[in-house]
Amino acid sequence: TKTDAVASSAVAPELPAFNYSPPPYVGPTAEEILAKRKEYLSPSLFHLYKNPVNIVEGKMQYLFDDKGRRYVDAFGGIATVCCGHCHPDVVEAIMSQTKRLQHSTVLYLNNAITDFAEALASKLPSNLKVVFFTNSGTEANELAIMIARLYTGCHDIISIRNAYHGNAAATMGATAQSIWKFNVVQSGVHHALNPDPYRGVFGSNGEMYARDVQDIINFGTSGNVAAFLSEAIQGVGGIIELAPGYLPAVYSSIKKAGGLCIADEVQSGFARTGSHFWGFESHGVVPDIVTMAKGIGNGIPLGAVVTTPEIAEVLTRRSYFNTFGGNPVCTAAGLAVLQVIEKEKLQENAALVGSYLKDRLTALKDKYELIGDVRGRGLMLGVELVTDCELKTPAKAETLHVMDQMKELGVLVGKGGYYGNVFRITPPLCFSKEDADFLVDAMDLSLSTL
Ligand code: PLP
Repeated sequence: TKTDAVASSAVAPELPAFNYSPPPYVGPTAEEILAKRKEYLSPSLFHLYKNPVNIVEGKMQYLFDDKGRRYVDAFGGIATVCCGHCHPDVVEAIMSQTKRLQHSTVLYLNNAITDFAEALASKLPSNLKVVFFTNSGTEANELAIMIARLYTGCHDIISIRNAYHGNAAATMGATAQSIWKFNVVQSGVHHALNPDPYRGVFGSNGEMYARDVQDIINFGTSGNVAAFLSEAIQGVGGIIELAPGYLPAVYSSIKKAGGLCIADEVQSGFARTGSHFWGFESHGVVPDIVTMAKGIGNGIPLGAVVTTPEIAEVLTRRSYFNTFGGNPVCTAAGLAVLQVIEKEKLQENAALVGSYLKDRLTALKDKYELIGDVRGRGLMLGVELVTDCELKTPAKAETLHVMDQMKELGVLVGKGGYYGNVFRITPPLCFSKEDADFLVDAMDLSLSTL
């Protein structure tokens, strides 16, 4: 097979040194697990890898399979593992909280929950300080949309085409990619043009795309809206950076229409973009509501909505309750995550290694016509493959092939974009320059097999 060709005919890059080997694995084989998965688990996303890896351990930016083989996790879970797999401080926080109290609810007091809420608020602009905990990004966005509708008394929500915001009722409406939807009623959701500098109709002209949002307000609503919901960099959509100037202009239109601006920081938060702690900061805007999940707990199920005291007040009119949201074990993990990001200067590392990696990937673009675009910020990078640079024809099969080849060489990357032709590179923020070199060399070798 071509996969064997990579391993045998060219010099495979060497993994960066790492002083750990897992103990021998004792357990069912990959084939046995795969057979069970096919029988008992939902088939969605099964098509990604021909032979998925049986991951049995994770340490920082690396994963180990059942044969003790090490992989660079350049997808970071799914942009979830920000401090590194099983980071000792996060593990310690989880263990010690688990031993004391595994579960608590809002009926009682518990400092693991309030301390984390306080620490989270301290990372946001001063008026954003009231926290509602959820279990996921979907729930966080559902709640944010509900809060905006309650607060404004309006129903209309504007989101951007190609966005991903979740998979429950309101969030599936706000999500704007056909593959993630089914025939669900999405009343009151309007999808604006995607301010995508690579594929968008107005190129990098943020002001022009912002006019489309104003048009939606003028011609598609009563003139008043509940909210505008947007990622700072589209993640699932293929690491799309919004055209410069877009968000400030849109925020101004939305405010004039009486709406709230919701920043979905599920992927771009927690220092991932390197230059800032939150993605919205690089656009120079201040949202009314911020939603978050993924990196917040280093992969532990946790999400949050943070808003101002004035807006939060609406939930005294219609109460909100979430049984597991803000579980103390999860919030203890969250507090440890914030401390690790600070202590280990992970934001600075994301900026440094991210720009080094982006430069190397951009150089690779000069070598392969198949690479149509390299983009992103910090350790949230995308590489889009096209078979024709002018027409930007998505190279879907090639993307799957290269992804599989990279896996054979020891690098796991994500895949996304509406056409499934974008590599999503969102590793743990402890990713090193050596890891970046290894990734680029593996991508180079994999591309050379096409
Ligand atoms: N918002 C964004 C930007 C996401 O990327 C995702 C998930 O990928 C979600 C919301 C939904 O989060 P979850 O999968 O935790 O429900």
